Amino acid sequence: MRRPARAQIDLSALGQNLDLVRSRAPPSRIVAMVKSDAYGHGLCEVAAFLADRVDALGVACVPEALALRDAGIGARIVVTQGFKDEDELRAAAAHGLDAVVHEDGQLILLERARVKRLPSLWIKVDSGMHRLGFSPERVAQVHATLNGLSGLATVPGFMTHFACADEPDNPMSRLQLARFDAATSGLKGEHSLANSAAILTLVHAHRDWVRPGIMLYGSSPLLGTTARSLGLRPVMSLRAPLIAINRYRQGETVGYGATYACPEDMPVGVVAIGYGDGYPRHATTGTPVSVRGRRASLVGRVSMDMLAVDLRDIPARVGEDVELWGEQVSIDEIAQHAETISYELLCNAGGRAVRTYLRGI
Ligand SMILES: *Cc1c(COP(=O)(O)O)cnc(C)c1O
Repeated sequence: MRRPARAQIDLSALGQNLDLVRSRAPPSRIVAMVKSDAYGHGLCEVAAFLADRVDALGVACVPEALALRDAGIGARIVVTQGFKDEDELRAAAAHGLDAVVHEDGQLILLERARVKRLPSLWIKVDSGMHRLGFSPERVAQVHATLNGLSGLATVPGFMTHFACADEPDNPMSRLQLARFDAATSGLKGEHSLANSAAILTLVHAHRDWVRPGIMLYGSSPLLGTTARSLGLRPVMSLRAPLIAINRYRQGETVGYGATYACPEDMPVGVVAIGYGDGYPRHATTGTPVSVRGRRASLVGRVSMDMLAVDLRDIPARVGEDVELWGEQVSIDEIAQHAETISYELLCNAGGRAVRTYLRGI
């Protein structure tokens, strides 16, 4: 079934955002994060574009990596949650995946594994995020255990993840960096710490491998800083058609809950996209959309398949497209209005819209 919402994915913008990553962290190798369907942009299409341009692709789980291998992608792939059972460990070994090891069950699987050649491994250090990883005190012991495994082709690397890198002044990042350095001091192995926010603000965290995600897709990883000012270009433009334009009298209300009252006689447009398409229901009256290159405001509550916009002073016609986010309206603005983050909007809407790919030059 084809719903009316369409997401246009501009791969040349993706390429430019990647250039920005490279210019900000020139000596580091790049793991481009393509988990969660490449943040809603299409796992295989995005991975096919990036595969020759980066040093590795990053996914959360083994099935995502296998989908990439099935699509013929031979690039190095880092699986950030690693394998969860013996089958996944075997698959990781067979398909040459890099697996992150973050808990004891995985150590046991590795010690018992009957495979000739183990996957390349990364030790996840919990430097303070408290989600995945070994506590700093255990890192040396885990490192020794892994290095003692037979069938290991390369020395395991060390990885950690920042909790607050999107807030450049938050002291948490420096604390995490110090804990990571203390835990890995004197141990051989490559380092990977930086997500997009840390690539832009924490030069000391660049090290051997950086792991950009959101900035590749053109949204700002930093609170209070626009994507445009960072030189990032939006990769996704989300559009849907106007399916009605109605005129209402002053005082008439629009939509569920009758939360918006027309301040004067005015035209109201109805756009064929709603929360069923991943557009956030939390977006309030005043959230911008772009009609004919001009900004208009959403009015009233978002419905499942529709939302309403104030068309005063905009000579729009039924059938034409409205941009919900993209070049004209930054997704970061929408995230602010909806009290969420761009990541969630991209993941929710990208996979449900009909995607088309602009390859540019
Ligand atoms: C998703 C993810 C990233 C990328 O984070 P962004 O904020 O999107 O740059 C990096 N590292 C890990 C482990 C991740 O899960």
